[in-house]
Amino acid sequence: MRLILLGPPGAGKGTQAEELVKRLGVPQISTGDILRGAVKQGTPVGLKAKLYMDAGDLVPDDVIIGVVKERLMSPDCGNGYIFDGMPRTINQAEALDEQGVVIDAALSIEVPDEEILRRLGGRRTCPECGAVYHVVTKPPLAPGICDACGAALITRKDDDPDTISNRLMTYHKETEPLKAYYKSQGKLITVNGVGSVGETVAATLDALGIA
Ligand code: AMP
Repeated sequence: MRLILLGPPGAGKGTQAEELVKRLGVPQISTGDILRGAVKQGTPVGLKAKLYMDAGDLVPDDVIIGVVKERLMSPDCGNGYIFDGMPRTINQAEALDEQGVVIDAALSIEVPDEEILRRLGGRRTCPECGAVYHVVTKPPLAPGICDACGAALITRKDDDPDTISNRLMTYHKETEPLKAYYKSQGKLITVNGVGSVGETVAATLDALGIA
């Protein structure tokens, strides 16, 4: 199964991807996670990406296409994968097509902007293991501390209010046109992402025909 998860930042792509990884046994490919790893390690890709990420802008297509090409060569991608946050531009989608990547479906998780602003404002992330919490909807057991590894939680730089608005604008301008792109290929599936995590998981599995 090769899947693309589409949706604005904060729609819950990462959460849905985690659930699908468990059900399908294929890896999640999150370009955001790969880039954050590169930033943390101070690699050339990380140094280049950081400026764009901190501003809430998209990292240039050539960087992303290179990173993804390398990731797809790993043996664990043999049976499929779930793209989370990739492609984000028509150029990136065309690059996947040109590389011969045939996807089964592009699943768009639909969430209105007001809800995204509410969600991302309360998001807290573990800088060590990447676990994600929300001060209201998914608080950690001890305030400010990661349940999984005990590290102090942070607000991602790109989750500050100005950056969130910029990321949303970028989503509508650059990424949302991908819905039409995959619709024209007969691959677009949409699900309502406004309900609880459990409801959205159920809607996702149902839409993909996974029991
Ligand atoms: P995410 O965790 O998916 O929200 O990604 C965090 C940031 O990484 C984004 O705001 C972009 O700056 C960058 N990024 C992640 N994936 C891509 C992509 N496919 N194309 C361009 N930039 C990306």
